[in-house]
Amino acid sequence: MTLNVPVSDRWTHDVWLNGQFVPPSDALVPVMVHGLHYGTGVFEGIRFYAGKAFLLEQHMDRLLASARAIGLDVPFDSQTLCDVANELIARSGLADGYLRPIAWFGDGGLGLHAKGLAADVALVVWEWPKVFQPESGVALNLSKARRATPDTLPPQAKTTGGYLLGFMAHRQARSLGFDDCLINDCNGTLAETSSANFFAVIDAVLVTPKADLFLNGLTRQTVISIAKDLGIGVQERRLTADMVPLFTEAFITGTAVEITPVTKIETHQMPIGALTARLQAAYKKQVG
Ligand code: PMP
Repeated sequence: MTLNVPVSDRWTHDVWLNGQFVPPSDALVPVMVHGLHYGTGVFEGIRFYAGKAFLLEQHMDRLLASARAIGLDVPFDSQTLCDVANELIARSGLADGYLRPIAWFGDGGLGLHAKGLAADVALVVWEWPKVFQPESGVALNLSKARRATPDTLPPQAKTTGGYLLGFMAHRQARSLGFDDCLINDCNGTLAETSSANFFAVIDAVLVTPKADLFLNGLTRQTVISIAKDLGIGVQERRLTADMVPLFTEAFITGTAVEITPVTKIETHQMPIGALTARLQAAYKKQVG
């Protein structure tokens, strides 16, 4: 009998699955895994540059913290996962690329309690040059969606199930002709995009929403620290939709999107500003 589960040919590099390096065609999981049915998984996105993963330990630590937040027991420590990541990158032969660690409640029953279910863990690498073209900037719409309250979903955990919200808001933005959207926090103030943090410039001051009700991204933290090193102050403050016309520059940050300028929010247009360009250059230097 042949397996009728073709793996698309976009995946060409070896995958690490539950302790073994396997070709992508063998990196298969049963349909009955809990994580598939209920979104009970956690993941990371890591970029590597010239063969070296940026903030590797921080990402692996966050993966394990996300897993703890949903009660998933990952049977590998951070150091082991970092070692595997480095080996996977070396095996891929890629200089620059993206690495996705993911863990989920596995096969053994579909009761919501997931009692006795072991975690499956995988690491995958691929080439992902750019999400957006940073020279042209992106257009965002203002989504009506709100992130969950912190007592509903742990805001600092990257959960697969939690991504459904960003997925729907993002698809709606795309269907309206935008590249992505700004999503609100649970109180209705501007928070972040579907999968990146947000910064703007108001009256020559760099501002960003305080990231306590949504993911405080590692790129966001890096950008804040770069800005401080450059003597650029950053105000963490409440931002609301009615302030959008005051933005003279804006950009989004994330491992995948790096620092991508925002040139339009709804109908408000902005140039790619000097501050954005300065931070982009400094970020490039830091990751390279
Ligand atoms: N917010 C959300 C919802 C995300 O998924 C991501 C991507 N991980 C970010 C922000 C940016 O986080 P980081 O800079 O750590 O990639």
